Amino acid sequence: DVTVGVLALQGDFDAHLQTIRKLGLHAKEVRSQRDLEEVDALILPGGESTTIGKLLARTGLDVAIRDRGQAGMPIYGTCAGMILLAHTIEGRPEQPTLDLMDIAVARNAFGRQIESFEADIPFDFGAEVVPIRAVFIRAPYVTKVGPDVRILSKFQDKIVAVRQGNLLATAFHPELTDNLRLHALVAEMARNYRASRG
Ligand code: GLN
Repeated sequence: DVTVGVLALQGDFDAHLQTIRKLGLHAKEVRSQRDLEEVDALILPGGESTTIGKLLARTGLDVAIRDRGQAGMPIYGTCAGMILLAHTIEGRPEQPTLDLMDIAVARNAFGRQIESFEADIPFDFGAEVVPIRAVFIRAPYVTKVGPDVRILSKFQDKIVAVRQGNLLATAFHPELTDNLRLHALVAEMARNYRASRG
């Protein structure tokens, strides 16, 4: 079956690795370009997007991940990972991103006084809309989407989950709940990607 990689430079990558293993899949920590070559999909975890961005540049993983994302490998970003996938960060033109998704995001957008909260929010899985438990921690939200971006979930009128082809992003952390559906979706995307490559 497929190998799902988790970028393991900083942040809550361990929770993602455990969730992937709960699905019975092979999980791989990605710290180098060599590691990246072995995966069929990549998860960018939550953490501190400025720090992760610096480490991406230092390891050359920024270019390598961008290349694979543009070549169709599924990438799923949660929270800081969503920020890294975005084209634009509101008010921070100097912060580098991978610039893979046609979205703009605002960091820490729910207000600094609200460090974290949980909510059950409707999520569009294509065939059905299902409520899922969402954990938000100093979360961003999406302020703009391009024409190819599908909005999958909103919370209080704010866009908190999006998909653009092989790229998926949520402002919240499913890996901190026992809901496996988002990771199962990534696994399905990885299988399709692998099948398409032959
Ligand atoms: N606030 C963090 C950032 O802007 C993201 C928080 C998280 O990933 N839980 O990088």
